[in-house]
Amino acid sequence: MGRKLNATPQPFAYPLEPHLRRHGPLGYKDYGKFRPWLRDEFSFRCVFCLRRETWGVKHANWDIDHFTPQMAAPLRALDYENLLYVCSTCNSRKSIHLVPNPCKVGFGNCLEVRSDGTIQALNVEGELLIEFLRLDDDDHIRFRRLIIDTVQSLRKTGQTETLLLWLGYPQDLPDLSKLKPTGNTKPEGVAQSHYARRMRGELPEMY
Ligand SMILES: [Zn+2]
Repeated sequence: MGRKLNATPQPFAYPLEPHLRRHGPLGYKDYGKFRPWLRDEFSFRCVFCLRRETWGVKHANWDIDHFTPQMAAPLRALDYENLLYVCSTCNSRKSIHLVPNPCKVGFGNCLEVRSDGTIQALNVEGELLIEFLRLDDDDHIRFRRLIIDTVQSLRKTGQTETLLLWLGYPQDLPDLSKLKPTGNTKPEGVAQSHYARRMRGELPEMY
């Protein structure tokens, strides 16, 4: 208590800008090895539904998605630029559908989540995302409302420590400087990783 926190982030505000990749590891023979890079890259949450690792049991529910499916582009199976960090629900729903690419389109211009947990498409890309990923099904609406209401009530009652459990970063931020891919097209990204920023005291408490 007594800690000064910035305005509480909105957990379902999609980014307005396309995702700009910070990392570029190369040379792994198994795409699972990209996982710590992708966790950091996409801030420990699903790029499509914004569900966070910290809201569930991480190891059971998180996948690496090949944006262009492996069947369509086998040569890109180990291409970091083709990999996304997603929840298993979005991964299985996306399947072979061609959905908008979060690295090309700012989803904040496509989708808007309301305070009751419902979601609206703002353009054609948003309609595709909602249709293929079924972001407007009852389960998603109920889940978003649960999170939004909980966060709002914790903020109102000043329960900062619990709020941090919901909106803080995971404890196990990966130390990317310890990893040894055979190459990295963006080596400068390691110093901008969440772990490095936390070590320098630069990482916000909530996001
Ligand atoms: Zn998802």
